[in-house]
Amino acid sequence: MGLKHRIKRAAGEAWARLLFHTGLHALVNRLMPRRMLVLAGHCVTAPTCASLPKDMKIRGEDLERILAWLARRYDVLPIGEGVRRIESATGKRSIAVLTMDDGYRDNRTHLLPILERVGVGATVYLETRPLDERRANWTHKLFGCLERVEPEAFIHRFTEIARDKKGGIVLNQLVPHSEATTYNIKRLLKYEFDPAERDRALDVLFAELGGDDRALTDALYMTWDDARALQAAGVELGGHTVTHPILSKLAPEAQRAEIEGCHASLARGLGQAPVSFAYPFGRKWDFDAQSASAARAAGFTSSTTTHPGVHERGGDLYRIPRVMIDEDAQLHRIAAEACGGFQLLRRIGINLAG
Ligand SMILES: [Zn+2]
Repeated sequence: MGLKHRIKRAAGEAWARLLFHTGLHALVNRLMPRRMLVLAGHCVTAPTCASLPKDMKIRGEDLERILAWLARRYDVLPIGEGVRRIESATGKRSIAVLTMDDGYRDNRTHLLPILERVGVGATVYLETRPLDERRANWTHKLFGCLERVEPEAFIHRFTEIARDKKGGIVLNQLVPHSEATTYNIKRLLKYEFDPAERDRALDVLFAELGGDDRALTDALYMTWDDARALQAAGVELGGHTVTHPILSKLAPEAQRAEIEGCHASLARGLGQAPVSFAYPFGRKWDFDAQSASAARAAGFTSSTTTHPGVHERGGDLYRIPRVMIDEDAQLHRIAAEACGGFQLLRRIGINLAG
C-alpha cells in the first residue's frame, strides 16, 4: 500500500471515529441533505459459503449490529422502495439499504432470520442462470479448483488447457513472484483472459479435479423456492444478469441479452417484474453507458455500482454508489457514510472513503 493511500486511510479512519464516538454523526446527519446509503455484501458466514473468499462474507452478529444501529436512526428499506422515497421526497429520515449480490443459499437460511429480528427490509440481486439451469459462473469453479489444488499447480494445468497464450503468460508471471493468491488469479482471469476460453478451461479442469457443476451450484446458490420464500417475507429481489459477465466487455446486443434475459427470468420465476439491478463486479470499468441504457430499457428503474458514496435526490439512478461490507466491515465507517460525513468531505474535494 502506497504512502498516499495509507495517509488517506488513516485520515478517513480518524474522521469516522470522531463522528461516531463523539455523537457528531447526529449533527452531520441533520445538516447534510437527505440521502440513501446502500450497503453491498454477498453472504452471511455459513457452512454453505465456505468456499467463498473472506471478502464475500460478513459474520451474522456483525451484520445484525450494523443493521440495528442503522435502524434506530434511518429507514432501512429495500432499494426499490428507497429510490422511490428519495426521488419523490416521501418521508423525512435518510435511508439505509442492505443489498446482497448473486443469490447465495445463506441469504435465506442466515440472512432472513437477521432481517426478521431487526425488523428491516433488504434487496437480494439474483444471477438467473444458477436458478434456471443450476450452473455456476466461472469464479466458483476457480474457487472450487483452488480448494482442491495449490495455486501453482492450478496455474500450471490451467494454462496447459486454455488456448489463450497471452493470458497464460501473464498468469504464469505470478508464480516466480509468489503472488499466486486467489485474489490475483481471479483478477487476471477476469481481465486478461478471453472469457469463453477461460470458462471452457475452468469447466475442463474443475471436472478433472472431481468437481461437479450441479453439486457446486446446489451447495452455494438458492433455488427458485428459496427466492420465492424471501419474496414472501418482504425481501426485494433484483436483477444481476444471467451469467455474471463483465458487461463492458460485451457487444451491445449481448449486454441486452444478459440484462433482458435476467429481467424476463425473474418476472417468470417470481410472478412480478423486478425493478432494481446491480452491475456484476460493479467497478466503473466493468459496465458502460450501454449497460445503463439496457437496464433502463429492460424495465429496471435503478442500477448500483460498487464505488463508495451515497445517493441523493436527482443523482444518477443508473450509477447508485454502494459501500461494500465483508468480515472487515466496521460500524464507525458505515455510520460516517450513513450520516453524510464522507459526503461532506467529498463536497469540498476530499475523498477519504473506500
Ligand atoms: Zn455479483
